[in-house]
Formats: sequence, structure tokens, C-alpha cells
Amino acid sequence: MKTLSNIKAVQKILAPLRGKKRIGFVPTMGAFHEGHLALMRRAERECDFVVVSLFVNPLQFGPKEDFAAYPRSVPSDRKMAQEAGVDLLWTPTAEEIYPSPYRTFVDVEEITRRWEGAVRPGHFRGVATVVAKLLQVVQPDRAYFGQKDYQQTRVLRQMVKDLHFPVSIRILPTVREKDGVAMSSRNQRLSPAERAAAPILFRALTQAETRVRQGIHESRPLLKEVAALIQSEPLARIDYIALCDPASLEPIEKIQKEAVFLLAVKIGSVRLIDNLLIRI
Ligand code: AMP
Repeated sequence: MKTLSNIKAVQKILAPLRGKKRIGFVPTMGAFHEGHLALMRRAERECDFVVVSLFVNPLQFGPKEDFAAYPRSVPSDRKMAQEAGVDLLWTPTAEEIYPSPYRTFVDVEEITRRWEGAVRPGHFRGVATVVAKLLQVVQPDRAYFGQKDYQQTRVLRQMVKDLHFPVSIRILPTVREKDGVAMSSRNQRLSPAERAAAPILFRALTQAETRVRQGIHESRPLLKEVAALIQSEPLARIDYIALCDPASLEPIEKIQKEAVFLLAVKIGSVRLIDNLLIRI
């Protein structure tokens, strides 16, 4: 596996492969866990050449967010990526991605308004801008993302469609710990007591799913029960819980065929998100 930082060097490796080899791409912010590795392994199975980018993108963090505290572990990431069959690990610098003066941004409208977009103003502008730039450099045949960040998958699908990126977007299911906690680089920042409280998110989602299976399809009672369950955990504070249309992410009053439960909960000082797609 090669590790490169410079954009020109990455393009030089990829140019001769285009049209001959299927290029798979997994954009990440590093601190790899099984969720990232699942994306890399799938890319390795489906493609001939796998590129992983590792870039903690300053543009998608708000001024009061955890950019400085975001976990960074490049040496162990390199080893894990190599073992997952990655061919090229691209570790761009912020200076090269956002040379000064930097003036071009990608804003995806509507679908970014609610949920993460409302709690984290500018977040999706940062995500869409950096992913557009990374796709532009790598020009992959397939790009892999996790369902863990559900709203992000919708935003990126919309962007790729609107901007005519010739890439197929692959969304893989959320990889979880044994107790249901969705794997996340941010889990490293939970204290032991907070980590013990973290399964409340998945328990809430599975409880909601059980209720749906029992025939409760209206949002109001479902959300009320889920909120009460989360609030029973003293370390948990709800940012939002919502039952939405899986495509538009607009809240729904009743599940017709499909819905997605979205939730964001603070456990101590660490903000965790999770979601569950439900089909009836
Ligand atoms: P990140 O490094 O957090 O930006 O994540 C990079 C990619 O891995 C994104 O597409 C995430 O949605 C995906 N990802 C993160 N955690 C998980 C998980 N637990 N299961 C599946 N995919 C994940």
C-alpha cells in the first residue's frame, strides 16, 4: 500500500488506471474501526484498486465543535488500511485542500436544513465541499459510505446526482459493537461510565422497531416512548429524535411503507448519532 499526501502524486498514480481498472474510493476522517474497515473490504472485493482518503476536514466542524479533539492515529490507521487490502492511502493536508484564498463551496439545499444541518450549521456544506473535491481528484467508479451517517448519505447522493459525478454510490449498513453501540471514532472519547450509557441509542431504536412491528405506526406515540426511554438514562441528553421520510428526511406523522428513525444524543460531552430504517 502506498501512502501519499500530494494531490498531483495521487493523480499521477490514478491516471493510467482509468478505464482499465475499477477504482473504489472510501473517504474517511481516520481513527479507523470496523465500520471503516467494512467499507474498505467491500471496496476491495468489488474494485481493482482501492483508494482511502484520511482527512479531518476542518470545514465540516463548527467553531465550538471537536475538531482539535477529534481522534487522530495515522500510524495504526495505515496498518489497518493495508490489512484491509487498500492500495493507496491518501492523507491530504488542509493547506493543499483549501489553499488561500479559498472561494468555492458546495451547498446542497433542503435536505441539509433539518437534523444534523440544524444542530451543526455549515456542517453539510463542509462535507459536500470536501467530498466533491475528493471525488474530483480520485474520480472513482464507486464510492463507499456508511449508513451510520444517514443524512450524510442522502446529501451526498443528491450532490452526486445534481453535479453529474459519474460515480456509483454504495451505502453499507452500520457496523455495531456487541452491545449495539454504532462504531464511531468519537466513542474513544467516552468515559467508562459514558460508554456504559451509550447502548441507550440502539435500545431506543430497537424498541421503536418492536413497537412498529406490534402495529404502532404513528409518530407521536413512538417518539414519546423512545424519548422517555432515553431520558431514563441519567447521562443522556436528547439533541433530536425524529421519524422521517427516508428520501426527503421530512418528518412524517405516520409510517406508510418506509421510515427512518434518526437520533442524536449527547452522552456527557460526546455527541452520538444513530438511525434505523424501517419497512412495514
Ligand atoms: P468518518 O471517518 O467518521 O468520516 O467515516 C467515514 C465513513 O465511514 C463514512 O461514510 C461513515 O458513514 C462510515 N462509517 C462510520 N462509522 C460507521 C459504522 N459504524 N458502520 C458503517 N460505516 C461507518
